[in-house]
Amino acid sequence: MKKLLTLLSIIILNSCAEKKASTGDNYDKNFDKFSSTFIEEFWLHNPEYASSVGYHKYDSLLTIVSKEWIKNEISFYENQKNLIKEFYGKKLSQSNSADLEIIKNQIDLQLFYLKQFKSYSWNPSGYNLSGTIAEMLAGKFAPLEKRLVSINQKISQAKEYYSNAKSLIENPTKEHTELAIQQCEGSLSTFDTDLTDSIKKSSLTEEQKKVFLDNVSLASAEQKNYIQFLKALDLTNAKSFRLEKKFYLKKFNLEMQSGYDAKTIYEKAVARKNELHKEMFLLSDKLWNKYLKNKPKPKDSLLLVRNVIEELSKVHCKSEEFQVTIEKQIPELEKFITAKNLIDLDSTKPLVVRKEPEYMKGVAGASISSPGPYDKNGNTYYNVGSLASYTKEAAESYLREYNNYTLQILNIHEAIPGHYTQLVYANQSPSLIKAIFGNNPMIEGWAVYGERMMLENGYPNLNGPSTDEMWLMYYKWHLRSVCNTILDYSIHVLTISKEDALNLLEKQAFQQNAEAENKWRRATLTSVQLCSYFTGYAEIFELREECKKRDGEKFDLKKWHNKFLSYGSAPVKIIRKFMLE
Ligand code: ZN
Ligand code: ZN
Repeated sequence: MKKLLTLLSIIILNSCAEKKASTGDNYDKNFDKFSSTFIEEFWLHNPEYASSVGYHKYDSLLTIVSKEWIKNEISFYENQKNLIKEFYGKKLSQSNSADLEIIKNQIDLQLFYLKQFKSYSWNPSGYNLSGTIAEMLAGKFAPLEKRLVSINQKISQAKEYYSNAKSLIENPTKEHTELAIQQCEGSLSTFDTDLTDSIKKSSLTEEQKKVFLDNVSLASAEQKNYIQFLKALDLTNAKSFRLEKKFYLKKFNLEMQSGYDAKTIYEKAVARKNELHKEMFLLSDKLWNKYLKNKPKPKDSLLLVRNVIEELSKVHCKSEEFQVTIEKQIPELEKFITAKNLIDLDSTKPLVVRKEPEYMKGVAGASISSPGPYDKNGNTYYNVGSLASYTKEAAESYLREYNNYTLQILNIHEAIPGHYTQLVYANQSPSLIKAIFGNNPMIEGWAVYGERMMLENGYPNLNGPSTDEMWLMYYKWHLRSVCNTILDYSIHVLTISKEDALNLLEKQAFQQNAEAENKWRRATLTSVQLCSYFTGYAEIFELREECKKRDGEKFDLKKWHNKFLSYGSAPVKIIRKFMLE
């Protein structure tokens, strides 16, 4: 009898569960509908963004930022915000409930940009017509003639584009105005050379070519006129490049989607920096006798560390062997991960190492080109910059930066188990939302976490721990992510001087002056972005340590990594909720 009752209650329970599941399903179906309509409309409102991720339906549309446009955008996002409310508090699948949070955040972010941040009024570099068509001209997604038709439709609106820009610019910063002049001048050759040449060699009729070439010279003239307008601006009392504190804090919350606020992350970064300095001193002190025993040991501990780092940086590959050195390391990294049982790697999606294509020139070092969300089966490329055009001194300085130790860490970060591995996992997720609005701190944080994880597991030694040299150089590398966060917060919120900022980067993070100057410039032109690396890293590392503590003996690192990556490029705070459930 007891047995029967139990059976009965199980049946009843089951039927309840079924009912629940089926209503749940309905919400999921409705949500799927909502989210695909949202994406389609989002592309219509952001045609340039759509083209850049490989969605080419709106290639011929040009966004003309105007007062009218701003009003329309605000009402579009406010409307979406109302529509999405229907799903709050409803039982959705894990993947959809993550997507719901991501879309909601994206809407809030867009409204923040439009209503509060308002960079259209103080950042003139947001307007660059030849810049927006350069990528389309270089892309190989459609025949040249088809791309030219889209480009022609865009540039024929140059006059309207720039006259609206000029009327919206109110109080630009000196830094963004200078950037705009530099970029608009730099990309004029897209009109005057690249586009002109492409039209001439295309199979358009002579009549079409003539109309098109006239449009190009008009557009080019409009852009030159805009440059003159910017040069004539009086910037003596220009707006500061530093964000207002309340804007910075809000931007941080919306762009990072972290479980922590900006101040907490800043404090964690400062604590990590101090920890690293201690470790680095111990290692350098130990290594001194091996490399520099004939020299007097400096009293200043940071100086001592710097000397050892400089000594180790002399070990590097030849400039003509830069690409082949990287190529050789990829299978080594795979071998290590498999032998140490760290992550399941998908061998059907190879990484293609190639020389940096022409249109990417100037982006130093190495980078990953991933297939977009609309081309998941496309190749993933590892673009390696050539040092052929460098002077001997510049090449030497570059190779010291990417020496035998840090070059391996760069490959860990960019390729395996960093960006490339994460991307292969993310592409297995059917959610377009996570691919389109991929969370930067998760993506960067994963790559930064991967560096530490490899060292913890002894990399590059298959048996036994890593070397002191590798740890020291890793710490130097890691200090860059940590100090990016400190720098960004200090510049915008704590308003530190340039002198103090350079001191942080050169003295405390052991960077060369050129690197520090570049970083200062980047931090004055952007905000929050530089915090992605450390924010994501800190949250991922903490989550792993928590799971380790919870699972004790049963904790399995490989399973944990596979699971963590299976959620796609969602914010860590959302993944955290699922993994701790
Ligand atoms: Zn050298
Ligand atoms: Zn990265």
